[in-house]
Amino acid sequence: MATKKFLLNENDIPTAWYNIVADMVNKPLPPLNPATKQPLNPTDLEPIFVRELIDQELSQERWIDIPDEVRELYKIWRPTPLVRATGLEKALDTPAHIYFKNEGVSPVGSHKLNSALPQAYYNKKQGIKHLTTETGAGQWGAALSFACSVFGLDLDVFMVKVSYNQKPYRRIMMQTWGAQVVASPSDLTEAGRKILARDSHNSGSLGIAISEAVEKAVLDPGARYSLGSVLNHVILHQTVAGLEAEKQMEMAGEYPDVVIGCFGGGSNFSGITFPFLRHKLSEGKDIRVIAAEPESCPKLSRGKFEYDFGDTVGLTPLLPMYTLGHDFQPADIHAGGLRYHGAGTIVSQLRKDGYIDVDDIPQLESFEAGRLFAKTEGTIPAPESTHAIASVIRIANKAKEEGKPCTILFNLSGHGLIDMSAYDQFLAGKMKNYSLSDKEIAISANALEHLVP
Ligand SMILES: *Cc1c(COP(=O)(O)O)cnc(C)c1O
Repeated sequence: MATKKFLLNENDIPTAWYNIVADMVNKPLPPLNPATKQPLNPTDLEPIFVRELIDQELSQERWIDIPDEVRELYKIWRPTPLVRATGLEKALDTPAHIYFKNEGVSPVGSHKLNSALPQAYYNKKQGIKHLTTETGAGQWGAALSFACSVFGLDLDVFMVKVSYNQKPYRRIMMQTWGAQVVASPSDLTEAGRKILARDSHNSGSLGIAISEAVEKAVLDPGARYSLGSVLNHVILHQTVAGLEAEKQMEMAGEYPDVVIGCFGGGSNFSGITFPFLRHKLSEGKDIRVIAAEPESCPKLSRGKFEYDFGDTVGLTPLLPMYTLGHDFQPADIHAGGLRYHGAGTIVSQLRKDGYIDVDDIPQLESFEAGRLFAKTEGTIPAPESTHAIASVIRIANKAKEEGKPCTILFNLSGHGLIDMSAYDQFLAGKMKNYSLSDKEIAISANALEHLVP
């Protein structure tokens, strides 16, 4: 019987994160100051982020040491298992070998803690007392709540109102770890009040919640803001997963032909793929990476490569990215973590340069894949992660059709045990697909052309 799972021990947790910028031929374009439209001066960011995170954001160093305190905390659940999905392979009757890195085993249930802990650590180190953030379905808010509790920081979470009302369990998790959770848009900020004055029943969006969290942090010198995806330093922290997986694939005696991650802002995708993409960039190794995004929020496949804001109101720096436009209102799909209008700048540049393929997954296909995975491998995947699984199944079916074996690695970014109401709707046949016309996409994306002259 072949080995099913590949386990490392604590000493194998990486000692440095991998920064792919060092190996990129075309470096990402610089972020712009939203007022002057000139390249950002690092000090422009100091009201928002602490200095060590700003340095990481702009760094071109290949390896950045993981602080001992953070590595010690990673030991709570890292290294995470790499598992051969033999049950899924059998059900698909495919010659493909399928492996997954299980990031759902973290105490918060997703990969997000990989960045929440270092972010809280660097803030604490600089003497910050208070963090602010936003959250959609609550995965990032939950991770940062635990991280802030560990480092003794206060945390305000602006949670998208529709999720706050419909999905109480992650709000309760955040409150259990000691965070203050507010439904966004709120009347606590100028940004929130502006939206409520126009539309008192506004159910919120990630972009609005970011505006509120940034505003709250900037007004308090003892506070900073924290983001759970998109930015270079977040992506950097997530590489811990791919670096472990690299060693584990070696233990399995295989090298992946394809590496797949689901895609919201790009953090878990980059975390699993960049350590492998590094071999393509530096040694020309033949490897394919695929971002699995929802058909209803197709920034990488149908968005524009333009400078855009990270939030709705326009408080953040302008970032060069594939975007559907900061006004884009994604459909209310259950994969809350994938409902974001833009992609991180590093991923966007790599996509532009042809290093990243994209699969657009309809919602029903994602849940069908999630259910098959649950039935064959046991773990019920997060609605976000089901997109990666659907993409894996497409490749595995193609391998079967062509009679060509291949090795696939994907990131199981989280488990779905807090998202069972989504599965309930799926099982009851109440779930639907949301596809977008070119016209719908053009409306918010065309507005971008005037942002930067
Ligand atoms: C937040 C989240 C995502 C999407 O965010 P990325 O930054 O694109 O990784 C995916 N999966 C899970 C489980 C999440 O919580």
